[in-house]
Amino acid sequence: MVNFLAEDDYYDILGVEKSATQEEIKKAYRTLAKKYHPDRNPDAAAGERLKEINAAYDVLGDPEKRANYDRYGTADAQGIDMGGFQDFISSFFGGGGGFGGFGGGFGRRGRAGPPAGQTLRLTINLTFDEAFFGADKEIAFNRKVHCEECKGSGAAAGSSPVTCPTCRGQGQVARSMGFLSVAQTCPTCQGTGERIDNPCKSCRGSGLQNERREITIPIPPGVEDGQGIRIQQGGNAGSRRGPHGDLIVMFEVEPHEMFVRRGLHVYMEYDIPFPLAVTGGEIEVPTMRGLSKMKVSKETEGGTLFRMKGKGVHTADGRKGDQLVRVKIQIPKKLTKEQKEYLDKYSDVFT
Ligand SMILES: [Zn+2]
Ligand SMILES: [Zn+2]
Repeated sequence: MVNFLAEDDYYDILGVEKSATQEEIKKAYRTLAKKYHPDRNPDAAAGERLKEINAAYDVLGDPEKRANYDRYGTADAQGIDMGGFQDFISSFFGGGGGFGGFGGGFGRRGRAGPPAGQTLRLTINLTFDEAFFGADKEIAFNRKVHCEECKGSGAAAGSSPVTCPTCRGQGQVARSMGFLSVAQTCPTCQGTGERIDNPCKSCRGSGLQNERREITIPIPPGVEDGQGIRIQQGGNAGSRRGPHGDLIVMFEVEPHEMFVRRGLHVYMEYDIPFPLAVTGGEIEVPTMRGLSKMKVSKETEGGTLFRMKGKGVHTADGRKGDQLVRVKIQIPKKLTKEQKEYLDKYSDVFT
């Protein structure tokens, strides 16, 4: 984090206008350097003053450093912390896109910083039981991490990247479209704001290397098909020390031959014998936790929904779904002679 007030105003120190040309800055520096030089000015305060003058000229005398100083209040563009803003932008736009945040082009003080890496999306298959009860799922995937050799800078040992001359380290350039000025990712540095003259041999200047990553995802009970989780910074690292994008893991839940999930509830259809539907009674019905008793009220019609309380998903925080059973009345088929006789008698009695 750079404190913008930490550096004195270099223009004041050299006594020049902000609009001064490089030539005027050079002239002002020479005059002051002579004036405060220890040979001419033995005063101790003059030595301090000369240090300030040299520091000011070190920045303003170099067009690239001066450009950074003008934009960000410091010559060291790398040191600027955009706080959570860049993170917000990259998560909002799906990570590391061409947007690159809002830099000085929009009149904001600050720098976009190196773009975040890509958001990775993975899909994992869960059995119906895993989604119902929860499970620890191991996943393995490839992602980009910062190169160990150059710590992600992309520059060979002993060298460092220089500020991109096209965008002056800003990572984006303004392009005019009619009367609008639109910020675009710098074509020279792809938004990194840096140029590498001596690339790291290990990563060929990308600042990235591959990593095979294995993680265990604790899947809570009750996840559904089409849901997923976002693991912040679990995705690819950004080039030039850019932050990691997120990892999104989507769940694909296999269907069950008997049950259907909706939220924490489980639905099923179940055939009950015709006499039971008429007289009512208790039967055993399959649930996700084995057979369980269900009361069928008398004179139950086909399509009636019975609720088995607490037989659905049990979440970690103590909520309990139900099992809902839609009954179908079995119509006896392929009757034996004896069964047919009983049915005839039944018809006689009920008409
Ligand atoms: Zn490297
Ligand atoms: Zn650039």
